Formats: sequence, structure tokens, C-alpha cells
Amino acid sequence: VLVMQMAVAPSIEMILSLEWVQNGSISLARLIGVRGERAAGGTAEPERDSDEIVELKGVTFGYDPQKPVLTGVDLALRRGERLALVGPTGAGKSTLARIMAGIHRPDRGAVRIGGAEADGIGEAALRRFVILATQEYHLFNDTLASNLRLGAPGASDDQLREALTVVGAGGLPGRLAEGLDTKVGGRDHALTPAEVQQVALARVILAAPEVIVLDEATSMLSPNAASDIEQGLNRILKGRTVVSIAHRLNTAHDADRVAVVERGRITELGSHDELIAAGGSYAALWRRWHG
Ligand code: ADP
Repeated sequence: VLVMQMAVAPSIEMILSLEWVQNGSISLARLIGVRGERAAGGTAEPERDSDEIVELKGVTFGYDPQKPVLTGVDLALRRGERLALVGPTGAGKSTLARIMAGIHRPDRGAVRIGGAEADGIGEAALRRFVILATQEYHLFNDTLASNLRLGAPGASDDQLREALTVVGAGGLPGRLAEGLDTKVGGRDHALTPAEVQQVALARVILAAPEVIVLDEATSMLSPNAASDIEQGLNRILKGRTVVSIAHRLNTAHDADRVAVVERGRITELGSHDELIAAGGSYAALWRRWHG
């Protein structure tokens, strides 16, 4: 899980070194300060060709253990699929996304990632396998290039530019005084919120994890730009598994499967056509959407 996805107080930023995060000696959950942090991790490595890309069995989790947000969730991602999560606000979609990315440890049930027990996977190995991209990004107080290389230390400058182009920010290095070597991050960096999101998404492309979880990862961008980026991501990440929290029903329509999350449970799971035929919540949502 990369670090792009968190809001970090400036005080933490001061003490935070990029290397600690890169080599996995500091965990994302600890940084965000959330409860239910996974164990520090062991030596298990998720396997890219495992059939258990991400598998949840009987997962129950609550920020306050007395009040479960997710209850008995079973869900198995299929390799290379696009899964959309839909459901009302507060239903537990973001929480489910974080469980799938191995950020929270469930109170009950099991999470397997790449065939390994999530708790046993070291932080760095986990981050190479699954990335959660949310609206809360964090740029390190370092150059644009270093920020982009967070998950792909060996990427060439050309690859950095190419990734920026896919997310619609091909002109960014040219606009900055020192191009890719311009310092970004820090308090008064020159990037707009939309550009910060683009940089964060370019990081995802460069890191090329097996599983990508998108939670409002394009919220700062216009609907057109967001949909261009979605297409760009689909093209460049062909064969990867992508889970996205769908805020627009188009995203769900284009997905291979849709999971409807209601009150902490998955109440419907299937393709758009199957769920329309089933005539449940998703079908009702779709009818409302289309007037
Ligand atoms: P959704 O993504 O479907 O809107 P969330 O997973 O964000 O749902 O939220 C589910 C429930 O968990 C809500 O009641 C929300 O207030 C609570 N919640 C979400 N994140 C946190 C958190 N970090 N700490 C405490 N409660 C949280």
C-alpha cells in the first residue's frame, strides 16, 4: 500500500522519511493512526499467480469493536477483473476497500492476499501487491521525480513522463521551473489539488501493483478528465485487478462485477445485467438514475 492515500499532519511529515515508507519499516495504518492496524507483517510474499488475489472470509470489523461496520463479509476477487462497489454513504465501502488493501485487520474472519494470510505479509511486499488510492494524497517534500518513483525506484525519466501523460498531466514537468527535479510537497508547493491527484495516480501506474483499489481517486478532477483517466488506467493496467468505489453508475455499468454494500454487508454481487435482472437494490438505483 503506497503512501499516496493519506492525510498526514505536517508535524508527521517533518519526521517522516521517504525511505522508511519505501522499505516498509513504517506502516500506513500507523501513519494514519487508525485502529485495527494490521500486525507489523512477517516474511510471507503475496504471489502474483495465486488464485486468491484478495479473498475475504467472514470478515467483521468495526472502528469501535462494539459497533461493527462490516459484518460477515465474504468476497473473492478474480484475477484481472474490474469490481465496482456501490451502496449508500456510510454503508462501509471505504472500510471494505481498506480491508482489501490490508490496511485494517478484521476483528473476525480472514483476509488472504496473493494466497497469503494478510497479517503475515511484510509491509513492503504488501505495498508492491496492492495499492489503495484515495482522495487524500500525500506528496513528500522531495522532487516530483522522487515522488513518482516511490513505488518504482528504477523507473526512467521517460517512464515518469509517460505515466503523467496517461493521467492527463503530460504538461506538468514543462510547467515547473526545474521539470521533474522541481521540489513538490511541503507547505507551499506549486501543484493544484487536481495535479496532486494526477501525480498520485501516475505513481500507481508506475508501481504497477497486481491489485488497485480506487476510492475517490479522481475526486478533484472534472468528470471528463476522470473518465479519460479511467480509460487510460484500464488500457495501461490491462490484466490487473481493479476495485473501484463507484460514485457514478457508469463506472458500475462498465465493471465486470458489481458488489452492492448495504449496512456493512454485501447484499448483491454479479454483473450489471445480472443485478438488473434480479430486480434488487442495484436495479432500483439504476432506474432512479435513469429517471
Ligand atoms: P462508505 O464508504 O460506504 O460511505 P465508510 O466505510 O466510509 O462507508 O463508513 C462506514 C461507517 O464507518 C460510517 O459509520 C463511518 O462513520 C464509519 N467510519 C469510517 N471511517 C472511520 C474511521 N476512520 N474511524 C471511525 N469511524 C469510521
